[in-house]
Amino acid sequence: MTNLLQGIVEGNPLVQRRAIAKAITLLESTRTDHRAQGDELLTQLLPHSGKSFRLGISGVPGVGKSTFIETLGLYLLEQGHRVAVLTIDPSSSVTGGSILGDKTRMEQLSVQENAYIRPSPSGGNLGGVAEKTREAMLVCEAAGYDVVIVETVGVGQSETAAWGMTDMFVLLQLPNAGDDLQAIKKGVMELADLVVINKADIDPRAATRAQAQITSSLRLLAMHGTAEQHDGRHWLPQVIQISALEGTGVDEFWNTVLAYRQLQSGNGQLDKRRQRQAMTWMWERIEAGLKQAFRQQPVVQTLLPHIQQQVLQGQLAASTAARQLLQAYADSGTPPATA
Ligand code: GDP
Repeated sequence: MTNLLQGIVEGNPLVQRRAIAKAITLLESTRTDHRAQGDELLTQLLPHSGKSFRLGISGVPGVGKSTFIETLGLYLLEQGHRVAVLTIDPSSSVTGGSILGDKTRMEQLSVQENAYIRPSPSGGNLGGVAEKTREAMLVCEAAGYDVVIVETVGVGQSETAAWGMTDMFVLLQLPNAGDDLQAIKKGVMELADLVVINKADIDPRAATRAQAQITSSLRLLAMHGTAEQHDGRHWLPQVIQISALEGTGVDEFWNTVLAYRQLQSGNGQLDKRRQRQAMTWMWERIEAGLKQAFRQQPVVQTLLPHIQQQVLQGQLAASTAARQLLQAYADSGTPPATA
C-alpha cells in the first residue's frame, strides 16, 4: 500500500502512470477487501490531493467536447500544466456501452507525458460511476495533475454529478437558436459558470447571436439567484465564443477560467463549494449504502413482496408500508452498508 502511495506521489513518470492505473483499478473493484484497501489508500492520498483546479465540461454529443478538450489540454501542457481528463459516461452505467468512448478520442493529447486520460468507469448506477470518477480525481491530484477536467455528456443526471465534483462547470453549446432553450428547460444552464459557444468558425454571425441570447438568458436566471450574487464580489456566468477545431478563443477561455478562480478563491466561494460538495457527496453515498443494505436484508426481502402487493391493492397506505418495513429492518439488527 505504501509503495502504491509512493508511486503515485513521487514516482518517475512511468512508475507513476502504472501506480495511478493500479490505484484506480483498486478503487473500482467491488470486492470487499479491495474496498477496504481502497479506503485506506484514499485516506493516505487525501493530504496530497485537492490542489488542482477542477473543471467540469459538458454538452450534447457532437458539440465538440473532445475536440475542445484536446485543444485546451495541449494549450495547458504548453504552459507547463499537467492535465488529467476523466469522464462520466451515463450510458456506461445503463448499457455497458458508451456515448463518449466509442471512437478514438483526443489522439494527440493522450500520447503526451503530462496528460492522463481515463475513460469512464462502467457498470453500476450513475451514483457508482460518479463515485469512481470522484475518487480517480483524488488520485490524479495526488499525482500532481494540476488541472483535472471532468467531461460528461448532456443527458440525464450526469451533468449534475460532474457539477457536484468540480470548481467550475462549463457548458458547451452550438450556435443554434433554440439550443439554449433546451439547456434552460433541462436546468443545466443554471449549473453553468461559463457557457462556451463552439464552432463559431462555421457561422460567426449565428455564434454572436447565440452569445447575446444566452447572455440575456443567464441574466434572467441570475435574477432568481441570491442577492449576494449581485454585489460584484461574486461571479456572474459568462458567455464566450470559440472554435475548438481552429483553436481560436482558447486564450480567452483560459483567461476567463483564471479570472473565475481568482475571484472565487479570494471571496472564499471555492472553499465553500468544495465543502458543500463533500457533505452532499457523503450523504448521497450514505443514502445509497443504506438503501442497498435495506434491500439486501433478508427480513425485508421476505416481507417486501407481500407489503408491496398490499400497497398496490390499496389495502395499506404507502407511508404505513414504509414504516413497517423500516421497523422490520431496525428490529433485524442492521448489517453494515456496503455500497
Ligand atoms: P463531442 O461528441 O462533443 O466530443 O464532439 P467532437 O469533439 O467529437 O466533435 C464532433 C464533430 O464536430 C467532429 O467532426 C469535430 O471535428 C467537429 N468540431 C468540433 N469542434 C469544431 C469547431 O470548432 N468547428 C468546426 N467546424 N467543427 C468542429
